[in-house]
Amino acid sequence: MTNLISGIKCRDELKKNLSKRIKKIKEKLTLTVISVGDDEASKIYIKNKIKECQSVNIECNHLHFENITTNKLVKIIKKLNKDSSVTSILVQLPLPKNIDENIIINTIDYKKDVDGLTDINIAKLYSNKKGIIPCTAKGIIDLLEFSKINIEEKNVTIIGRSNLVGKPLAVSLLNKNATVTLCHSKTKNLKIHTKSADIIIVAVGKPGLINQKMVSKDTIIIDVGINRINGKICGDADKSVYKKCKAVTPVPGGVGPMTVYEVLSNTLECYKLQKDKK
Ligand code: NAD
Repeated sequence: MTNLISGIKCRDELKKNLSKRIKKIKEKLTLTVISVGDDEASKIYIKNKIKECQSVNIECNHLHFENITTNKLVKIIKKLNKDSSVTSILVQLPLPKNIDENIIINTIDYKKDVDGLTDINIAKLYSNKKGIIPCTAKGIIDLLEFSKINIEEKNVTIIGRSNLVGKPLAVSLLNKNATVTLCHSKTKNLKIHTKSADIIIVAVGKPGLINQKMVSKDTIIIDVGINRINGKICGDADKSVYKKCKAVTPVPGGVGPMTVYEVLSNTLECYKLQKDKK
């Protein structure tokens, strides 16, 4: 029977340790979340992040704007950068189309960039230097390591090349000595790449994209996709793969809880980066 890799179990274990490390710090760690507009999924994600932060004694401040310009938001972020009581900053994506996402993200001081999406943190990841690693990529690495799944020397096929998930994940895995194949919407014959993989990581947002014909029996599947069908949440892997492959992360309860956990973990990393520079 296929092994289910529980992100909830992993998150709970890692959180115990993180909580102990945070308790030892005299200063209060704080996360400021910025959101704009009325994206329904974002509201749920933010609620979750705030609840999880509070569980490890990280204070959360949520700044929500119905409407705002890029310039005004830049000013607000610059103020937060200077505020020593702010440990980390998270801009909830997607932003409305009138706002320049690239300018906003890169206004965040890289030492407060909890999502690891500023150009500076991405460059650090590329050169394998200490910085903040994007939460989903870091969450997947932590989940594999916690589950004692060896990354080194493995053939890993990632499907999805977004700046948020696929690309930073590919680099993170390369930094851990995996052999990485990065597939996307223009990849011909996806099956060739999935069949030969030891680990498949699918981050597309298309339910049923991976089916049992595309996987081998010893494959491990990390399902990042979040899709809603008739009010139910499912991933990108068809349930038929559960019977065939070696192990799989369920949706919900797999990568999602790990991504949120890394917001907490990265807040501590931000604190440490800021301390290092003083
Ligand atoms: P995105 O839309 O930015 O990127 C999707 C990627 O899939 C693109 O690179 C595209 O080339 C590729 N793609 C599209 N159709 C394809 C096909 N038929 N075959 C192969 N590749 C194809 O999305 P994203 O932000 O990277 O998110 C991907 C999915 O992961 C979404 O469902 C999202 O909700 C989910 N997600 C989950 C978490 C989590 O914590 N579990 C975090 C972030 C994103």
